[in-house]
Amino acid sequence: MCDLWKNTTNESVASGDIPAQIEWALNHLPHVKHLKLYNSGSFFDERAIPEKDYERIASLVKGFETLLVESHPKLIGEKCLTFKNMLKPELQIAIGLETVHPEILALINKKMTIEDFRESVSFLNNHGILSRAFVLLKPPFMTESEGVYWAQMSIESAFNSGVECCTIIPVRSGNGAMDILQDQGHFSPPDIRSLETVTEYGIKINAGRVFADLWDIEKFSRCSKCTDQRVARLVAMNLGQEIVPPVRCICDS
Ligand SMILES: [Zn+2]
Repeated sequence: MCDLWKNTTNESVASGDIPAQIEWALNHLPHVKHLKLYNSGSFFDERAIPEKDYERIASLVKGFETLLVESHPKLIGEKCLTFKNMLKPELQIAIGLETVHPEILALINKKMTIEDFRESVSFLNNHGILSRAFVLLKPPFMTESEGVYWAQMSIESAFNSGVECCTIIPVRSGNGAMDILQDQGHFSPPDIRSLETVTEYGIKINAGRVFADLWDIEKFSRCSKCTDQRVARLVAMNLGQEIVPPVRCICDS
């Protein structure tokens, strides 16, 4: 249900490869204040990013205000502190909470529990490292309304655990496994209106920043008349962190 199967490798990369990639990318990008190094895996997985590379990575990113990396909760530990101590920018670690529905979290084979997530966030908070949660909108085995409800519960739970912000990710098909579940009737992609509902809810509870993930967002719209307005509404809510008046369209009736 996640996108880690894209843009990744089957083999571990050699030490030095990741810093070289970062250096190349930074030379080709306009200057910005905040940098995300999402590696389609866990930054703190030794087989993804060798610890030997931390120092060079830290030196490459020293001009940024914030650095974001992603990690599985079970890989949160001492290595995060080692890396943080080398860094000039403020470190934030994104962790997939996915869903607080305990049975469905087990079914999606993430090999983690809600307790693992809470412990990781608490460890990071105790060491002055910010965290953010990835929350899935409508993982497999949920109806549309269950998808909305559990995404809302997951956002609340993530903030209660101590994250600084949440990103809501509408679940996509396309990786093969999700397509099989879809054919079996266990999954269908969420509606863009559900993403609006969950984003509104997250902003309304005022516990931290809430972002809707807008990658390929048009695919989640089933009505061509209001797609552009709904996407614009989500963009405005992401940027302003305030509720934007709802879109009115015949598809609501
Ligand atoms: Zn419409």
